[in-house]
Formats: sequence, C-alpha cells, structure tokens
Amino acid sequence: MIYQADWLLPMDDAPLLRGWMKVEGGRVVAMGSEAALPPDVEVQQFPGCVLLPGFINAHCHLELTALKNRIPAGKSFPVWVEELRGLTTGLSSEDYRQSVKEGISLLLRGGATTVIDVGNTGDALSVLSESPMRSFALVETLGLDPSLAESRSEHAASLANQLANTARFRTGVALHAAYSCSRELLVKVNAFQKERKLPVSIHAAESAEEAELFSSASGSLQKYCRSIFPEAPEHWATSPLRWLEENLLLQEGALVIHGNHLYERDLEILLRRKSTVVHCPSSHAFFGHKAFPYAELRQRGIPVCLGTDSLASGDSLSMLDQIRMFRKNFSEVTAQKALRMATTVAARALKMPRELGVLGPRYRADFIAVRTKTSPKEDPCEAVLRPDAQVVFAAIDGCEADLK
Ligand SMILES: [Zn+2]
Repeated sequence: MIYQADWLLPMDDAPLLRGWMKVEGGRVVAMGSEAALPPDVEVQQFPGCVLLPGFINAHCHLELTALKNRIPAGKSFPVWVEELRGLTTGLSSEDYRQSVKEGISLLLRGGATTVIDVGNTGDALSVLSESPMRSFALVETLGLDPSLAESRSEHAASLANQLANTARFRTGVALHAAYSCSRELLVKVNAFQKERKLPVSIHAAESAEEAELFSSASGSLQKYCRSIFPEAPEHWATSPLRWLEENLLLQEGALVIHGNHLYERDLEILLRRKSTVVHCPSSHAFFGHKAFPYAELRQRGIPVCLGTDSLASGDSLSMLDQIRMFRKNFSEVTAQKALRMATTVAARALKMPRELGVLGPRYRADFIAVRTKTSPKEDPCEAVLRPDAQVVFAAIDGCEADLK
C-alpha cells in the first residue's frame, strides 16, 4: 500500500511536498515525492494532511486516566501524593483496565503510536498487549525498607514476566524515585532492565520538596517518607541525581522523568551517564514547578523528550497538546525540533533509532496523518502544531488503529 499526503515529514530529512511512502510487511520500503510515484499501485490519499512518524510518549501512567480532575491543580507534591493514594485505594482491577483502555484511545487520538507506560498494579499489561499501540509496559516498584527489596522487585518482575514480549509489546520494571527506593531495590531493578536491554525509568528532581529532602533532610516530603518508613535516610547537601551517581545507582541511558530542579553538577552527571530527560509539560503546569531548564540541558547536549504523565496531574494525554504546550513555553525552539523531541530523540532514548521515530526505508511503519489545511508554501512542521490541526489517521506496523 502507498500513502500520500500534501506533505510527508521523514523527520531525519527535509519535508517532501506531495510525499508518499510504500509500506510492506509493517515497514516502509520506499518513499519519494510526487514525481517518483510508482504507477499502477493503490494509493491511499490524505488530502489537506501531513504524514509524519507517530509520537513516542516517553512517560505516562495509564492506570490513572479515570482520575482526571479528581485532584485540583496547584497542590504541593506530597499533598498530591497523599490524595492520589486515597483515590486509588479501593479501585478494582476492572477499574484500572477500563482506565487504561480509555487512556490508550486518548493517546492514539493525540498522535502517539508508542507509549512508555508506568503502572503499579500490572493491570495495564494485558490491555496494552491487546491494543494496537506499541508499548513498553513497565511495572513500577518502590520501598525504602531494604528488607523488602527482594520481595518488591520479584513481585514487579513476576508481573512483568506474565506476558510474552513481542516486537510491539515489551515489559519491564520501573523505579519510582531516589527518595522512595532503597539502594538494594535500585540495584535489583537496574540489573533487571539492563538484562532486558531496556532503559530504567525513574522520577527525579521533580519538585521543590524533593530538592529540600536531598539538600537538608527536611520538608514535607521528608516528613511524608518518614511517616511511611521511620528509618528513611537523611540526605544532606546533595540532590537525587548526585546521590544516585555517588552510589553507582544511575543506570547508563536512564530516562530521568521531570528533571525540573537541576544543579550544575546534575547536568554533568546526566551527560556522563547518557541520560535522557523526559519533560511532561501539562504535569509541569499542573504542579506549578519552577521553569523547566531546557536551555541548560540543550546547551550541554543532554537529550530531552516529552511525555504526558497521567490525567491525575494534567489535563491531556495528547502528545500533540504536549508539543504545543512546550512550544508555547519555549518559543525559540523550531516546530521541527519540537517534533523531533517526540520522535527521533525519544527513539534514541529507547535504543531504537533505526526502528522508530523516522519515516524512511526499513523503519517501522508507525505513522500518523494530521489534517492541517496547510498551503504548499507553509512550513508543514508549523502547520502540524497549529491549534486546529487534528490527528485523523494512525498506523502501527502499517496497521490502521481505530481513532474513535
Ligand atoms: Zn510519573
């Protein structure tokens, strides 16, 4: 089958006017512009549209989709965590499964074809495996008590191991955060992910309360951790990333989720450990965190990609919305660069730079069509990010996904 639109954005090359691509066996096998279109083949046309790689949502918690608007914005991070714990108590497996289903549908309509999902119950796994979405379904673990490290990591691993992995569906374990996991647990999960050739995902440097916990063993998050585990460690004059690095606990290539509070030494650590920072614009706005240090990260060549986080701390699971929000806050970033954050940069972070994030020969045919009402003279990347642009088609491995 050949797909053709007003524009085709390969993402690693210049946009193709009236671009087309041929898909066979779930992969792109040929592409070109109007002049080179092979004769006598079936062509699916997308008038008024731009074709581009599907977005990679590098951080999401699909289990929490049903909690949209349940916690008001602007609360401190520890208060939000406490309210979230209250709301999730009593949710059944079926509630979580429904939540995941609804979330997948929102992701697809927002242009994501790949998601790195982090769940606590394992209920997301079977729903994701049956969905058209390409997914990295991670089971999150945490626990400050070192004596629980073995049982916690084994429990998460057994949930991750319950379903067979395929090229489209991979499972693993995620770490919650440096302040909520013991060293022993961090070691075990790092090893598990390394064996699976998957990056570790860990929340880090998200809130002012977390920065306070690591700088002076004080504040409301420290108090909260102590209320759960009275022997929670006391950190002094450090940061989550420095503490991880000094204890040899930051896995190379880790996905560092949020990274809002970064010191100079943290930036050096991120660069040295080849980390990618995952910025979640709507979640960032929900909490009112300090400005995301995008310029500082990019100055040092640290990759930044994007995620939606969950609807318990944000109002959209659309990656198109996240990219638009990011550009509103960082207008100096070109539309093409912003789109690359959600495609090529994220594919590299997933160690799949020759499989995902680009439309080109041999890449997987994970793509979307965005209706833009663009004119041939307009920059098609800008057109995709216009407020009225809409995802009208999505395919993963060349198979159309239902966007209803
Ligand atoms: Zn998260």
